[in-house]
Amino acid sequence: MLDTLIKNAVVIPMTGEGEYMKNASVGIKDGKIAYLGHDAPEAERVIDADGNIVMPGLINAHAHTAMCVMRGYADDYALQDWLYKKVFPVEARLDEEAIVAGAVLGMAEMIASGTVSFSDMYFCQPAVAKEVERIGMKANLCNAVLALSEDYDPEKDRAVIETRKLIAEYGVKGRIRADASIHAEYTSPPEIWKLVHEWAKDAGAITQIHISETKTEHEGSYSRHGLSPAAAFDKYGILSTPALMAHGVWLEESDMELLAKRGASIAHCPVSNLKLGSGMADIAAMREAGVNVCLGTDGVCSNNSLDLFEEIKLSALLSKGEALDPTATPAYEALKMATVNGAKAQGREGETGMIAMGYDADIIMIDTHAPHMKPMYDPISAVVYSAHGSDVKMTMVEGRILYMNGEWLTMDVEDAIRRVEEHAVPIVLA
Ligand SMILES: [Zn+2]
Repeated sequence: MLDTLIKNAVVIPMTGEGEYMKNASVGIKDGKIAYLGHDAPEAERVIDADGNIVMPGLINAHAHTAMCVMRGYADDYALQDWLYKKVFPVEARLDEEAIVAGAVLGMAEMIASGTVSFSDMYFCQPAVAKEVERIGMKANLCNAVLALSEDYDPEKDRAVIETRKLIAEYGVKGRIRADASIHAEYTSPPEIWKLVHEWAKDAGAITQIHISETKTEHEGSYSRHGLSPAAAFDKYGILSTPALMAHGVWLEESDMELLAKRGASIAHCPVSNLKLGSGMADIAAMREAGVNVCLGTDGVCSNNSLDLFEEIKLSALLSKGEALDPTATPAYEALKMATVNGAKAQGREGETGMIAMGYDADIIMIDTHAPHMKPMYDPISAVVYSAHGSDVKMTMVEGRILYMNGEWLTMDVEDAIRRVEEHAVPIVLA
């Protein structure tokens, strides 16, 4: 017998373009999808979806979740001022308690807006991992290596120590995974990239990297290496293992071809790129070249939310506007970036991102009863162009309900908010 049956749903399985099923049921056993069809097999628990949309949970492929403590703290600054005068000084003051509090607040926001899994680059990840474990989300966690000074010693770097600890404690296969990370081309020399790449190779880990986010960074790489950031990373063998690279706003055609050839993924972060005035990534061209493009929110300090529905809609709209072609990124492609492609980027292909037999039951339910969802000629279009994160009614990971009808079932949200306001905010404002 099934553990759970979700019945009377409009199911978007994300298994093929334009596919959806009306009056359908999804069955779950031992945390995995065990039934998909129009019957109602017996189950211990039955959830009546009442005509709501049921689809795979969303994947946020680039986040700095704990930066939630800086939500709205530094808006409308030029990028360099934002980073060097506002963000870095606060980050130097944040202690582990503040970082964990920010990460928990961010997870509450992600769960409530339909995200089931996130790729996160920040500090204190072994402590954050304990909270992910408790709350029940999926995460690929890393602490990015930066080596800006001449006397950089990896043995004394917190990022190196944390990465090793994460790899030892969680490995690279479970619900919580350790990723390796090079912050960006301009924040460390090739010897350090090679060092990080060695761990990634040994552990079988994905490497998270920021790439060609700004014009300054992209052009600067030519003076530093005589090559674009992507070509420079490739020269030192960094792309020979799976890489998840954020932004790619300034990628050239040859970079896209290279990333496609190496099987690297790009986490497109349109809200952050617009807010920081970095530019617009050409995701239609990337897709054309064969790059796996997924979506990320980036940190809340440059967004200011973790609601992936904003990225889904904006990614489609920007792509159309940039190409002067409304067919450039259709709704299904936008939704695929937030699910199927995100799963691939996280090394979770075949595990999550689809509602298909044997996949983990990482499922969300979206309300279709509100005025802005009526009428609904095409559920895929409704999710992409009409829905908001606040329309999410249920979020489930591996068959466990984390959020239902406005309630968080695995965490104390009031406590999370209190910890941020009482502990983290005074540090930010210090
Ligand atoms: Zn970032």
